[in-house]
Amino acid sequence: MKVKAAVLRQFGAPLSIEELEMEAPHAHEVQVKMLACGYCHSDLHCQEGTVPSSIPTIIGHEACGVVEKVGSGVTGLKPGDCVIGCWMVPCGRCFQCLKGRPNICETNMPFFMAGNLLDNTSRFKDKNGKRVGMSNFVAGFATHTILPEIGAIKVPDHIKLPPEQLCLLGCCVVTGWGSVVKIAEVCEGTSIGVWGCGAVGLNAIRFAALRNCFPIIAVDLEESKHAMAMEFGATHFINSSREDPVPVAKQLTGGHGLEYAVEAIGDPGAQVQAWWALRTGASLICAGITPAESTTPLPMCYGSLQGKSVRGTLYGEAHPTKDLPNLLEIMNRGILKTDRLISRLISLDQVEEARQAMKERQIVGRWVIKYD
Ligand SMILES: [Zn+2]
Ligand SMILES: [Zn+2]
Repeated sequence: MKVKAAVLRQFGAPLSIEELEMEAPHAHEVQVKMLACGYCHSDLHCQEGTVPSSIPTIIGHEACGVVEKVGSGVTGLKPGDCVIGCWMVPCGRCFQCLKGRPNICETNMPFFMAGNLLDNTSRFKDKNGKRVGMSNFVAGFATHTILPEIGAIKVPDHIKLPPEQLCLLGCCVVTGWGSVVKIAEVCEGTSIGVWGCGAVGLNAIRFAALRNCFPIIAVDLEESKHAMAMEFGATHFINSSREDPVPVAKQLTGGHGLEYAVEAIGDPGAQVQAWWALRTGASLICAGITPAESTTPLPMCYGSLQGKSVRGTLYGEAHPTKDLPNLLEIMNRGILKTDRLISRLISLDQVEEARQAMKERQIVGRWVIKYD
């Protein structure tokens, strides 16, 4: 069938809006009509070429849609089901999956990097019959896509949230949750700082607030992020273009520093700053993706001398079929403020506006592509 998609053909350039040919779903796959897809900071990374991806490809990985057709062998989904796309689909059988870390599945990671589905092929071709990849098992910047059945989380009928909120579960909610709840395992009174108040950072702040952490220090270069960070539950906001958050973090914690810092941008400078705001024995949790060519100059002397650690995390350490349905129920209670997170709805044709605004750090909350 013919679909409209925003194709990444050249790094550092606008996406190309094209008509593509999409194959019908293969075995254990579903055809999905897209309803909504967020524009995530990782999409900007892909577009700018700062994280590796193979082109041409369809990016967009924070998606919600409705099943139109199912391939052979699909048992858990039917046409009409609302689903959320997973951008890391575990095989369930590899070394890491069996170790309980399905978010870094060894079998499927190569397909993920290649922009293919689980049989290592894509379902899209352009008007010249040339293959177009589908990034992150989702390809959300298209009117329709094909998802692996295991990577399509069914939204139960009792959940009535609109698709522009539901899609957020697929990346920013799960990543923010995983950093704070699954990795840091924060509890009442845990001191935490969050560097970067984009959608992932705001979700990290929200979950820290729901667990009564104190202080919750939100750090961002833009004053425009201040109000929303406080609304989501930060106890303090530091505009790091004007003020050094390190002494503030020390002062608010009796001179000790923070127990956890979540770096949600992928910026080496922010990682270093967050490191210095930590107390002895504390952990820096890196949820943002730094540019592939960058390095972060951390004084690891203090890693051993002060027992500090750095922990990288992908996809909130989530097990999609186990954790996403639970998070969906939490979202449905309204306590994650996902309605407030959405600052603008755009069409697929306006995706370039999202790229420009994000590059200029002008997006507060999340811009979401809403499909007809
Ligand atoms: Zn994302
Ligand atoms: Zn696996």
